[in-house]
Amino acid sequence: MNTIFLKSRREIDRMRRAGLLVTEAHRIVESMIQPGITTAELDQAVEALFEKHHAKPLFKGFPGPVPFPAVCCISVNDEVVHGIPGDRVLQEGDIVSVDTGCKLNGWCGDSAWSYPVGQVDAQKQKLLEVGEAALLLAIEQVEHCQMWSEVAARLAEFIEKNGCSSVEDFVGHGIGQEMHEDPQVPHFVDKTTLENDFELRPGLVIAIEPMVNAGTKRVTITEDHWTVVTLDGKPSVHFEHTVAITPDGAEILTPRASELAKRGIKGEFQENG
Ligand code: MG
Ligand code: MG
Repeated sequence: MNTIFLKSRREIDRMRRAGLLVTEAHRIVESMIQPGITTAELDQAVEALFEKHHAKPLFKGFPGPVPFPAVCCISVNDEVVHGIPGDRVLQEGDIVSVDTGCKLNGWCGDSAWSYPVGQVDAQKQKLLEVGEAALLLAIEQVEHCQMWSEVAARLAEFIEKNGCSSVEDFVGHGIGQEMHEDPQVPHFVDKTTLENDFELRPGLVIAIEPMVNAGTKRVTITEDHWTVVTLDGKPSVHFEHTVAITPDGAEILTPRASELAKRGIKGEFQENG
């Protein structure tokens, strides 16, 4: 049974602020990614940004077998999600997925993106394209479908049609004053998806976050208790936006800085913007 908190226009306005700070985190991370940088350095930059704006990092201390130790999840190549930042040095040809979220003035934003490190091979390049296109397709379909299961079906079909697989062990989520609220937002359709299906109506805010694998959809967790890796060792990508359904359609609350720039909006987070 879902307990979905629909958000008012004013509440979505406040979530937009949190989302834009997450946008800024990704803008900074993307500008830093290059061969030779460590995943800890990326994490520290995001931590400093959140501190500067008095935002609460949502991932640090997140409960698990051991509390999550960092502000970002950073997952490289065959790592799907929940990678722990550390002294790993990014290499030319890697794919690095960065997922982060914060709570600003009581409201949450959550977004993940996968980035190439220098030049990547054709398989990884295709995976990046399919993953990003899958997320954007889902957001577009939110406006055309009545129930989430219809979106999930089209999302999964798109991923499979492109020779990739959609991870089923982890799902998206409602988001608001808490990072994880109802409903669960799966990127595939099975019995549970249909049982817990929900209507796409104004006021709904969800994090849509397909995890797309080049090979098998099957994943496993490593000894650090957090890092999720593909079972076949093939690469994986993760693309996530916080999305609000408003009377005008679906709005991405964590837009890419490059998208804002196209619309003539300065990417940098403004304290009173
Ligand atoms: Mg996330
Ligand atoms: Mg999320």
